[in-house]
Amino acid sequence: MSTTAKSETTTARLIREEGLHVARNYDPLPVVVSTAEDVWVTDVEGRRYLDLLSAYSALNFGHRHPALVAAAVDQLGRLTLTSRAFHNDRLGEFAAALAELCGKDMVLPMNTGAEAVETGIKTARAWAYRVKGVPDGAARIIVAAGNFHGRTTTIVGFSDDPVARDNFGPFSSGFVTVPYADVDAVEAAIDANTAAVLVEPIQGEAGVIIPPDGYLRALREVCTKHHVLLIADEIQSGLGRAGTTFACDREGVVPDLYLLGKALGGGILPVSAVVGDRDVLGVFRPGEHGSTFGGNPVAAAVGLKVVELLRTGEFQERAATLGRKLEGMLSGLLGRGLTEVRVAGLWAGVDVHPSRGTGRDVARRLLERGVLVKDTHGQTVRIAPPLTIKASDLEWAVEQLELVL
Ligand SMILES: *Cc1c(COP(=O)(O)O)cnc(C)c1O
Repeated sequence: MSTTAKSETTTARLIREEGLHVARNYDPLPVVVSTAEDVWVTDVEGRRYLDLLSAYSALNFGHRHPALVAAAVDQLGRLTLTSRAFHNDRLGEFAAALAELCGKDMVLPMNTGAEAVETGIKTARAWAYRVKGVPDGAARIIVAAGNFHGRTTTIVGFSDDPVARDNFGPFSSGFVTVPYADVDAVEAAIDANTAAVLVEPIQGEAGVIIPPDGYLRALREVCTKHHVLLIADEIQSGLGRAGTTFACDREGVVPDLYLLGKALGGGILPVSAVVGDRDVLGVFRPGEHGSTFGGNPVAAAVGLKVVELLRTGEFQERAATLGRKLEGMLSGLLGRGLTEVRVAGLWAGVDVHPSRGTGRDVARRLLERGVLVKDTHGQTVRIAPPLTIKASDLEWAVEQLELVL
């Protein structure tokens, strides 16, 4: 063992070793997690942290939820993968349950969120050509400024974040960007070749940007009027986070397609899906689209259990109730280190006053106090605990934020 290795903490050594062979596409906070249970994670030094990021809402049910782990373990002992060259005995039941949760007919299973978005784009284009009668190659999709829909080349091509985009072109055409939460701009951008409007009902990565009440309803009306699909990217906002099963439910809006991911995999494995009715998702013909792992039996077993948990309504209710509490507590910090607070369910974006440092500085100081959060876009910190969090833990976390500010 070298002298460096002896004097180094385990944390420092593991971070250094990871850095030797892992591409630097992330800049993680300096904590090395080794175990976790529900809302708490433990690092390699034995320190405990409250997880207020929940892997960007992939951990809505907490770490290692017993029912989800049991579903995965049970399936691992029976069948893990068939590919969709053959049927497996789990996919049908999962798809039926998820379709029912969404009030739709059909599910197209994929793995990551970005794949669900890509699938939504392909669905909208094929629908435009085969159903709406748009000339082949001419379909356009309207997207919102400030969007985050994933990291594939097509998707970053219609991002307006230079960090996500720059040096990764050339990009696909066929996307039109309009301001977020501006329904008149959407309507003005629609023409005969418009296939769809793709939107996050609440913008997550942008810093939990909540559109004014009525926006989604107006968007639904405009899409229906012009025979354009409304595609809701609920990958981060859905599955209980916003205090309802889907963020669209906050305005009683039903999109033509739901894009789901993150929490659909129960914090265990990547599971995503596009959910819609037969007149839209039915456009695919065998061989036109697919995924080797999409709809695999382990994903289906875990995804089914996720749907069963959501059917109880318990998690949505907790998100709504605890979210009101969180909003009350965070509002008390306005003018005392925070300049703006945006809360939807158990999901908050708070803007830090520059005199208190950047969002990243606040995240580092919270880490020292045993709280994990992630900054976004300079001054913003995102707060998204597992929906299983106790009120007392939430109070403690906000106390730590107050101390740090
Ligand atoms: C995370 C996210 C995605 C991409 O999901 P991945 O699983 O990381 O590919 C897409 N849309 C939204 C709104 C997201 O938050």
